Amino acid sequence: MAPGSLKALVGKFLDVLWPRRCFGCRCRLSGDGPLLHLCPRCVCDLDFPFAPACPLCGWPREGRTGDQCPNCLQNHFFFRSCCSLFAHSGLGRRMIHEIKYRQGHFLLPDLGRLSSVLFSNMAGGILVPVPLHWRRRWKRGFNQSKLICQALAREHGCSVRHLLWRRRCRRPQVGLTRADRRRNVEGVFALVPGVLWKNIAKDSPIYLVDDVLTTGATMNECAKVLTQAGFSNVHARTLARG
Ligand SMILES: [Zn+2]
Ligand SMILES: [Zn+2]
Repeated sequence: MAPGSLKALVGKFLDVLWPRRCFGCRCRLSGDGPLLHLCPRCVCDLDFPFAPACPLCGWPREGRTGDQCPNCLQNHFFFRSCCSLFAHSGLGRRMIHEIKYRQGHFLLPDLGRLSSVLFSNMAGGILVPVPLHWRRRWKRGFNQSKLICQALAREHGCSVRHLLWRRRCRRPQVGLTRADRRRNVEGVFALVPGVLWKNIAKDSPIYLVDDVLTTGATMNECAKVLTQAGFSNVHARTLARG
């Protein structure tokens, strides 16, 4: 028997013994769906980020098409595009919380699969996790951005490279104003020293990956470091948009 069909058979057997339930609504899931822990209805009920959105910063366009995005007029973004899978509300918020604080890593393959539909043209790109300070990573036990990178890499055929490190531990961004968020992350990130990044072509598509994007201050600071190092094709991707 081929390994694939054996795996499917074992999966069906386990489904009978321990039926899988949807993380969102707890309904019983059949073995045939494309996602392991989300039912189609919950996926459709996810709050999707603003549409139409500015292709550069992801800010809502509120139906306007011609005039320039007010967020891009007020801020200088170093990334060339910014997309998120869902809004940071409802089920999307619950999933992020589960991944970050309740070891809910079982959700990551499903989110990777969703990204293969919603994030286009990432094949062959380089995924770079937004780094945590070592002290926070040690406390949490993992960097969620790295795990999200790995889930996305499997679906999109990308590689994961740790090009950045966080040299200072600052207070979390939650609860800060836009200006304070920008100041709070200023000068925090740096390129990992050594030859790790030197053999990457400067125009390679690089996707910075994080769990949630709110004002974009953290993502922009990371993109600034990569841009100043000469990389010209930096993009931002997150699971949720706050
Ligand atoms: Zn459901
Ligand atoms: Zn914009």
